[in-house]
Amino acid sequence: MPEFVDRSPPGECIFCRIVRGELPAAKVHEDALTLAFMDIGQVTPGHVLVASKRHAATLLDLTREEAGAVMQTAQRMAQAQQAAFAPDGITLLQANGAAGGQTVAHFHLHVVARHTGDGVSFAWPRQ
Ligand code: 5GP
Repeated sequence: MPEFVDRSPPGECIFCRIVRGELPAAKVHEDALTLAFMDIGQVTPGHVLVASKRHAATLLDLTREEAGAVMQTAQRMAQAQQAAFAPDGITLLQANGAAGGQTVAHFHLHVVARHTGDGVSFAWPRQ
């Protein structure tokens, strides 16, 4: 089971600090409820995280409005990946709690462009 890498108090976690611009990140989309930025550990080129702007630890902590906004942003990111990388497929991955494979306790959804034979393995929880 993976360990949480960020046990900062709500509001001081890595992704809250990225949302506020206190930590650098390659931001690719921002709206009232969501922020999308490049994952620091690119599983494949274009690997994007879609995070809630408000600190919410997991899917269970999102409002319905935030949950809808996250999926709309994820679709935009998938469309951008399709245009930029012409992938054969796109994987969405979203982990909740350490037992669910989550390592940063601020809600985020992975959008990963996939190519046939890319060798990417999504063991669950991730290794
Ligand atoms: P999880 O394991 O919680 O589903 O995903 C956390 C993700 O956050 C990982 O893929 C990891 O590479 C990414 N990550 C961790 N720290 C940072 C950071 O400081 N900046 C960015 N852009 N991504 C991060």
